[in-house]
Amino acid sequence: MLRDFGANIAPFNENATFKVNINGLTAKVNESISNACLEVAKEGDKRSCEFLILVNIKTGEWDYQEKGMENAVGGHDFFDFLANTNNKYAFVHNHPSGMTFSFDDLQTFLVIDSIDVMVASGHNGKIFYIKGKKRKIKNKRPGGIQLRGKGPDRNN
Ligand SMILES: [Zn+2]
Repeated sequence: MLRDFGANIAPFNENATFKVNINGLTAKVNESISNACLEVAKEGDKRSCEFLILVNIKTGEWDYQEKGMENAVGGHDFFDFLANTNNKYAFVHNHPSGMTFSFDDLQTFLVIDSIDVMVASGHNGKIFYIKGKKRKIKNKRPGGIQLRGKGPDRNN
């Protein structure tokens, strides 16, 4: 589902801290996400594959882990897990290239309700993250303007 190995692979950066400080999350959860960033980059570099850790953004626990194929994470088990939870997660995975999000990353973030934070941990120590989203656009706009008419993206 998520592919990054097509791009150039950066060497693992031994000196990087892999620390994040994401607004709205506790120090404990940020610490846990930081540890997850280091883990996926280190293991991903060692075994040349993609790793995924879902960090519970309330407890900081690593509730789900996946060692991907050579170039992808997010298989059937991932969707089974998410189908059976109401928790919110940080999706922490490695980017061998150290480059920013792929289209699939953004789609995963936007479409899957349980994923509240998307984190890409580059093997070079560069970390990208996005957090929070408007989950539902109701047929009301600020100022009380109503959307009218029918369409695939409207509720009326
Ligand atoms: Zn990715």
